[in-house]
Amino acid sequence: MPPTASLAPLLRELDHLDLVSAGPQLQQLSHDQFAFSPLLSDQLRDCCADVVVRARSTEEVVAVAAACHRHGVPLTPRGAGTGNYGQCVPLQGGVVLDTSAMGAVRQLDTSNGVLTAEPGCRLLELDRQLQPEGWALRLAPSTWRTASLGGFIAGGSSGVGSLRFGLLRDPGNLLGLEVVTLEPQPRVLQLGPDACRGLNHAYGTNGIFTAVTVPLAPWQNWQELVISCPDQATALALAEQLTASALDLDGLTYLEAALMERMPPLPGLAMPAAPSLLLIAAPAAIGVIRELAAACGASCIFERPQWPPTGLLLRELCWNHTTLQLRLQDPAFTYQLLLLPDPVGPVLDALSGRWPGWLHWHLERVRQGGRPRWVGFALFPWAGAQQLQDLMAAARSLGCLVFNAHALTVEDGGLGVVDADQVAAKQANDPDGLMNPGKLRGWLELQQR
Ligand SMILES: Cc1cc2nc3c(=O)[nH]c(=O)nc-3n(C[C@H](O)[C@H](O)[C@H](O)COP(=O)(O)OP(=O)(O)OC[C@H]3O[C@@H](n4cnc5c(N)ncnc54)[C@H](O)[C@@H]3O)c2cc1C
Repeated sequence: MPPTASLAPLLRELDHLDLVSAGPQLQQLSHDQFAFSPLLSDQLRDCCADVVVRARSTEEVVAVAAACHRHGVPLTPRGAGTGNYGQCVPLQGGVVLDTSAMGAVRQLDTSNGVLTAEPGCRLLELDRQLQPEGWALRLAPSTWRTASLGGFIAGGSSGVGSLRFGLLRDPGNLLGLEVVTLEPQPRVLQLGPDACRGLNHAYGTNGIFTAVTVPLAPWQNWQELVISCPDQATALALAEQLTASALDLDGLTYLEAALMERMPPLPGLAMPAAPSLLLIAAPAAIGVIRELAAACGASCIFERPQWPPTGLLLRELCWNHTTLQLRLQDPAFTYQLLLLPDPVGPVLDALSGRWPGWLHWHLERVRQGGRPRWVGFALFPWAGAQQLQDLMAAARSLGCLVFNAHALTVEDGGLGVVDADQVAAKQANDPDGLMNPGKLRGWLELQQR
């Protein structure tokens, strides 16, 4: 904590709230899934909040924000703690404000598919409530079962649905926020789509969400498919053909053979040692997908409805769950995230050729800037910080954008550049820089001028 901060009076002021100030739970609620990165593990292992406050209402959030400001204590918001970049880890101790108990749906407009819900709502639980009304969330990380709505907006980036709706920060994916500021008298702001931009994916550095408004998609009886392909080139060409068609797809993942055979089995399916596509597709698309697959020597080897979600879900072999499944077998594995240029094949071959046998490829098809693109998860056993730097440099020289999965700040985990909207929102909502300190590089640079 900053030397000027004062914890004892803050604790006295907040002692009517649900507090955790000692024991293993304090450390557990101070950490997330940063173990995915050996670099972040070294930096974050010893970070711990002085106290965790589990807020149940906007009024309680306001009380915590006011007390933190009064006593100069840092405040780091937390949802379900599934982030894997240390987003909710308090670098300077202080208060971790856990909003996971704020789980009410405030408004569901079934006439136009707009949802306003509190930040602690779990994404799958939201979908369970939306499904009977004929609606569904547009985007969800592969941590659909566990992640919170507020944590996804503040800490996530994309996921299932990104093939249709792009990345989380694309205009239109966030319609409104209710936000508590960190000032002598915290304000409760109601922000529309434009004003939200600077708080979307800002790691809770510039406002505490107490409600989130998102557009929904009509519910669809999505089917999970696995297509086994003769080789990588065929798999990538088929994937590109499918996503350039009029087929309704919610997700498309490519796994190379060595990854596919290491994934846990889906019901009735022994995972083949073959390059494979994992698809989430509308029922009306299935016949055409099967025909296009057969035409290039591929075959559909698994088909199952996604709903109701029970047991291991196909999406739990996708996105960062692929890394998780691999790490369950060999914790030495980690990953780096790349936005790949077209054509993708030569880039994969060049990187694999430089480190034979070290890199394994898992790709996700997304819509970026209005057109289908590949996001690459390069998976590899950790070989030290220098080799990671070499991989990033080699990827950049081949035209890849690196979203560094081993970085602490919003900017370094993203496009690498400072977003003026995020910094402006911090100046307005957290003028003393107490919110999740150390995570917004643009703010740190401003302080050093
Ligand atoms: C196996 C695995 C798979 C994953 N797959 C994906 C994926 O497909 N796509 C993806 O984008 N991410 C993915 N992630 C990362 C993470 O699960 C998601 O981003 C998730 O949505 C985070 O939600 P959370 O509730 O756990 O947030 P947390 O981890 O608790 O917090 C994330 C960030 O949000 C901030 N925050 C939380 N609540 C609030 C609030 N009320 N107000 C303001 N800020 C707040 C926190 O300070 C933190 O900076 C994955 C992680 C793992 C471990």
